[in-house]
Amino acid sequence: MANDMEEKLKALALAAKKSLENGANPEELKVKYLGKKGELTAILGGMGKLAPEERRTVGEMANKVKGEIEALLADAARAADDARLEAELKGPKLDVTLPGRGLRPGRRHPVSQTLDDIVAAFGKLGFEVAHGPEIELDWYNFEALNVPADHPARDMQDTFYTGGSTLLRTHTSPVQVRLMQKQPPPIRHVMPGRVYRKDSDLTHTPMFHQVEGLLVEKGPVTFAELKGTLDAFAKAFFGPSVKTRFRPSFFPFTEPSAEVDVSCTICGGKGCRVCKETGWLEMLGSGMVHPNVFTNAGYAPGTVNGFAFGMGVERLAMLRYGVNDLRSFFENDYRFLEQF
Ligand SMILES: [Zn+2]
Repeated sequence: MANDMEEKLKALALAAKKSLENGANPEELKVKYLGKKGELTAILGGMGKLAPEERRTVGEMANKVKGEIEALLADAARAADDARLEAELKGPKLDVTLPGRGLRPGRRHPVSQTLDDIVAAFGKLGFEVAHGPEIELDWYNFEALNVPADHPARDMQDTFYTGGSTLLRTHTSPVQVRLMQKQPPPIRHVMPGRVYRKDSDLTHTPMFHQVEGLLVEKGPVTFAELKGTLDAFAKAFFGPSVKTRFRPSFFPFTEPSAEVDVSCTICGGKGCRVCKETGWLEMLGSGMVHPNVFTNAGYAPGTVNGFAFGMGVERLAMLRYGVNDLRSFFENDYRFLEQF
């Protein structure tokens, strides 16, 4: 019986050594031989049947075998560590003395910068800021602004409808109506914000930003004041040397209406590819507020006068920075954004 167990122990030590030489994982071998349900434990389980003097001999031998296997496993683990270190040293060099790579500071998006600059320029002219909802009632977006249901101007803007009478506002003009409903003149406000239209090409995106302005007085307001205000804005925004030009136009909510051009910011008015050799760039739309709009907002007819204007923020950013694809502003390509 005792001899039998001694043979088993010897065989066990030998098997462990062979397994290691064949590349077995030392951690797995430790469980296989020395674990609670391991082979050595199984052999020792039979010791109770031995005579006391035999038990001592076999016990000593078992301890010896256990020590041998543990030493073998420790050697193997050390060898594996050395091999890993060797591989690291032979791999790509890591120069720990090099200075670290800092985080790049964030910056304002060019559209946000442009929007802030527009609002700030009008702020210096005494305009306050007003906001309104982006999901708007059809009435505020069209009807109140003198654009009835059968008006052809509704075909000019493809609208995202969100329900029966609600839509994503196609311009920030509804904020003008809400403002007039809320307070009597004088009103001198700009309304910045997101607007939505079903459009997507080089110069249109489904969402873009507008800043509109509204001035309402109880006394007379002249077209000359509108011209003076927008000329002062153009010079504040593009630089003191730019000129402005007013061309007659049509909008349902203003009468008379005018498109305002600014002398080309690239060629200074001499004519180039960007301004199509005209020397002028379209900047914004404007006009004297239509009497119907005043009536719809709740002001008594003939008691108030005012002007309004509206501009696309992305369009002004394109003019200012010489960007020719509007969509670049929304692709979030850092190589594009870091140029501003
Ligand atoms: Zn030009």
